[in-house]
Amino acid sequence: MRSWINMIEENAIVVDSSGRILQVNKRWEIFCREHKIDPDLYVVGGNFFNQFRDRGRIREMETIRQVALRQMHEYSQVYPFTLPDGDVQWFSAKVKSLELDGGEGAVALVYLHAVTLDTVEQSTAESVLETMGDGFYQLDSQLRFVYMNLNGEKILEIKRRDVIGRKVTNAFPGFEESRFFAEYKIALTSKEECFFEEYYEPLGRWFHVSVYPITEGGLAVYFRDITASIENEKKLKELAYYDSLTGLPNRQKMLEVCQELIAKEKKFTVYFLNLDNMKTINSIYHYKIGDEVLKNISGQLRLLEGDKIQVGRLVGDEFLIVLQPAPSDKLHLFAEKLEKIFEEQVWINDFQSVHITASVGISCFPYDTTSLDNLLSFAENAMTEAKKLPGFSYAFFRPQMRVSQNRHSIIESGLRDLSEDSGIHYHLQPQIDGATNEVKGVEMLARWNHPEIGFISPEEFIAISERSGTIAPLTLHLLDRLFTQISEWRRRYAWDFTVAINISPALLESPVFFRNFFDLIDLHQIPTKLLEVEVTEQVELAYSEHVLENLQACQSKGICVAIDDFGTGFSMLSYLTSFPIDKIKIDKFFLRQIGEDKKAEALLISIINLAKSIECDVLAEGVERQVEVDFLLKHQCSLFQGYFYDKPMLPNLFEEKYLEAPKSRMLNS
Ligand code: C2E
Ligand code: CA
Ligand code: CA
Repeated sequence: MRSWINMIEENAIVVDSSGRILQVNKRWEIFCREHKIDPDLYVVGGNFFNQFRDRGRIREMETIRQVALRQMHEYSQVYPFTLPDGDVQWFSAKVKSLELDGGEGAVALVYLHAVTLDTVEQSTAESVLETMGDGFYQLDSQLRFVYMNLNGEKILEIKRRDVIGRKVTNAFPGFEESRFFAEYKIALTSKEECFFEEYYEPLGRWFHVSVYPITEGGLAVYFRDITASIENEKKLKELAYYDSLTGLPNRQKMLEVCQELIAKEKKFTVYFLNLDNMKTINSIYHYKIGDEVLKNISGQLRLLEGDKIQVGRLVGDEFLIVLQPAPSDKLHLFAEKLEKIFEEQVWINDFQSVHITASVGISCFPYDTTSLDNLLSFAENAMTEAKKLPGFSYAFFRPQMRVSQNRHSIIESGLRDLSEDSGIHYHLQPQIDGATNEVKGVEMLARWNHPEIGFISPEEFIAISERSGTIAPLTLHLLDRLFTQISEWRRRYAWDFTVAINISPALLESPVFFRNFFDLIDLHQIPTKLLEVEVTEQVELAYSEHVLENLQACQSKGICVAIDDFGTGFSMLSYLTSFPIDKIKIDKFFLRQIGEDKKAEALLISIINLAKSIECDVLAEGVERQVEVDFLLKHQCSLFQGYFYDKPMLPNLFEEKYLEAPKSRMLNS
């Protein structure tokens, strides 16, 4: 039987992301043998990238690699292939991502279609060039247009019949002074190809340009409009620095502002401001109202901005204001200015208003400390002190506040070290189908055995990580390790359990985090249908529309969205209708009422029915007793997680217990 690859009527080569050749067709093999090409370019196990590596053609290697890794969909390009006898064979190459049955992972299929460049008029090359995604034109040795393809016309907004025969400098205004022209001249005299990215003012667009000198004289020029991707990059940078809801600088940006001042040895003061009653507002009204209130307060804080005053939003309802030097009485005055903002009611519509108050903690650089980490946590500490007083209040940091700060800052600084010996790791807890006693999934739970202070509960260090802005790197670090493990188990044991991941409320708003998360999934090639994100039913979740967008992005990729601790939050019902939810995890609090409280039992049954009626799966969490299992099974909830079945455990223990001996996937009940 002819294999599929031999049926392709072009030269065809399958390579992995490092260029290793996995398959080639007969056609390519024959071509290579005929031209005495190095076997490394056509035998299985050889490396297709050698031809590029030897000639420094990094771009070709990189593009093929990206297609193999599915970071790019498909790519085509015409490129010169130097034969051992010195002749050049031009190939029109087309590269596509490919899924192989054998589980080789990421691979690309490369088609090479031989073309002749100097007979572009009627040859097949012309039709290739015409249909090519890139723009292309050929210039003679006087830099006059010989040819331009259709896409070239489109991209440059020009008709080829108007330019053929004309000099490139006459066709484009300002060309003679541009980098394009300079590069062309160099390529023409040096006979060396070049690649560059450049902005062309008259069209207002960015281009990626590849210039190849032609043996007979002249240049072949390929170009692509990359304006969109450059603008995206800019936007992403902005996203990384500005808070999307309020437009204020975010935590990262504010840290950099402080770092700059420290580097310049300037004195300054930070005001750590926390709103007191956002939770109530979100639970009484819709989260959109909460968003409006945050925007309103942000707008008013922004009015304080000036030469020496910067305002940013750290996370949720926390703001940071940086004030450049001021004698201590002025510091009070500024705090009083802040107080004025909170005297006014905030109108949420024409006939309703709410009263917001805030607590503010203040610390000074370098008076209180010379470390930026300490400065912020001292200010936060002072804010916590201020919270003890009703209404708007502020407090200056005092050294007595520092004692309780010690453990906090050890944990906070420890979170910046994600190395092997940091002691940060994760456990897996099985999720069981109670009807069959089979494992269905696992939940990843963070663990930390700190080298100095020993075990720290995830509740404690996750909260600190959220506040200090390290939760994104921490989560991604754990996911990277988890995904590495799951990939290995997929190869070894045909792993098909779902994997539940806890996503902090602090991350739910961040498009940047989700982009990194999706990239990581792609990198490890984890099938999205195995993944589940768990979000807690807390007010923070209701903060912004970005949460909705991020969760929708998960769902559209096939990742399941689960609500954690269901029933302990503030407004179960509005939740289920506001967000795209696939699954709810009933909190252990409800399970403890089974056999104790008839009303709670009735509520539990109605929660299960409600979930089913909106096509949500239900899992009961923290199952500890037989009565709980019996009751839940009787009422159609059969997915369980809890000590009754197993505790969270190290991955190697999980492997031993549930993967190595397939029979033990069935628990003995
Ligand atoms: P959670 O997401 O509700 O996780 C379930 C918690 O219940 C875990 O506590 C688990 O050990 C515990 N548990 C499981 N079965 C039973 C049982 O039968 N009885 C009782 N009493 N408890 C049971 P753990 O591991 O201490 O985690 C606490 C919380 O910390 C988690 O609650 C979650 O909110 C957070 N957390 C843990 N890892 C991460 C993480 O990687 N990222 C984020 N954002 N949060 C995490
Ligand atoms: Ca959870
Ligand atoms: Ca939970």
